[in-house]
Amino acid sequence: MLNLDTIVAPVTPPGEGGVGIVRLSGPQAVTYLKNSFRSKTKHEEFESHRLYYGQLFNADEVRLDEVLAVVMRTPRSYTGEDVVEVHCHGGIQIIRSVLDLFLAAGARMAAPGEFTQRAFLHGRLDLSQAEAVVDVIKARSERSGQVALDQLEGHLSRKIYAYSDQLKSALALLEAHIDFPDDEVGSLDLASLVEPIYAQVDEMVALANSFDVGRVLREGVSILILGRPNVGKSSLMNALLGEARAIVTEVAGTTRDTLEESLVLAGFPVRLIDAAGVRETDDPVEKEGVRRASSKARSADLILLVVDGSTPLNAEDRLAIDQCQIDKTIVVVNKDDQPQCIDFSHLKEFSHKVSVSAKQMKGLDSLCTVIAERLGRDSLSAAGEGLVVTEKRHKDALLRAIVSLNAFFEGVHLSAPYECLAMDLREGLNSLGLITGETTPDEILDQIFSRFCIGK
Ligand code: GDP
Repeated sequence: MLNLDTIVAPVTPPGEGGVGIVRLSGPQAVTYLKNSFRSKTKHEEFESHRLYYGQLFNADEVRLDEVLAVVMRTPRSYTGEDVVEVHCHGGIQIIRSVLDLFLAAGARMAAPGEFTQRAFLHGRLDLSQAEAVVDVIKARSERSGQVALDQLEGHLSRKIYAYSDQLKSALALLEAHIDFPDDEVGSLDLASLVEPIYAQVDEMVALANSFDVGRVLREGVSILILGRPNVGKSSLMNALLGEARAIVTEVAGTTRDTLEESLVLAGFPVRLIDAAGVRETDDPVEKEGVRRASSKARSADLILLVVDGSTPLNAEDRLAIDQCQIDKTIVVVNKDDQPQCIDFSHLKEFSHKVSVSAKQMKGLDSLCTVIAERLGRDSLSAAGEGLVVTEKRHKDALLRAIVSLNAFFEGVHLSAPYECLAMDLREGLNSLGLITGETTPDEILDQIFSRFCIGK
């Protein structure tokens, strides 16, 4: 057990609520509770993981609140230390006075993420699990939450440990042959040593690539609705919003020429942006709107290019078409409820076209399916075991490990000395350790935990 002081912080968000929870963690946590908690039923010791009802008093015997208190004794607690949680009324003043009580007793205010950092230091969580805590809290769709929860439960860590174990056993064999001559330990069969690592590197590459999906799940994507005026962009936006029925937030900063909404589409958190109608104009206000639409087209993850299927394409449509990058555009042929007379020759480069009627809410399911495919839903299921890398840090560490292992393969091919081969394996192991935190430098650890909120 590490010798650490006792820390305290509110774990519920600031503001008023039915209940506010203050958490203590450290060797003195239970003593601080005992000294201030009174209850009708006499008990010498708090049983672990049991809720006690009573009153909290400060050192001047002033009653602070009626509370429920729970003690979770080491090591069966979030941090791995003795943890106390006091459930008081969720008022700003009450929480303040409960905090003051424990601070006066000798506790220290916890830094952001310090409870989780202690869980990491005590081996309750490894680094990738600790990082997932923030993602679980911040998840904006069910699917993002699920991926974060899997990471918290150790799905990613288990995979990384399995990779490391494989490399460690190869390294042990190599080192035995470095330290002892072949006639003592028998000759080394390099082929059988390399084979499983080959297969492992293939998996590692797939895992690193899953970051494309992981990023989308974690950060969300921006989808721009683009097209000339009157093709039905606003109608499509409203139809998709109605279909999703899961508007997460009203995005502030909506301007007169673009309108943004957040929603969940096919499990992905999405920012849907309705750009101003694109048309040639001399009007400075409209010109500015069009300029913004073009810049949004460049930065959007996906573009829904809306055309009106009931009229031939015109010069304004072609202006909008010119703004679209082909590989990230889905053509939405709207007004499918009307007789169609569109000529697709100007749209033949685009491989994804979906007919819809925004007005009659038709074809939206197919559109959502195509959007989900483009956002990588397929690679999500192909990643198997639902394993997805959501942190750039993890992807980079995997890529570094892959580089070292490729150097190892090259070394084997060139019959390099065992010492060199062992060095490449050690570097590979080191990079994998960055993901689970075994080899992560302290300043990076501090940086990671400082992203957490107070009380986590
Ligand atoms: P925007 O300027 O591109 O945003 O287009 P709007 O959404 O304002 O729609 C322009 C006009 O087209 C409105 O009169 C809509 O009612 C009409 N409209 C939009 N979608 C459809 C559709 O699917 N079918 C038909 N028939 N009319 C539509």
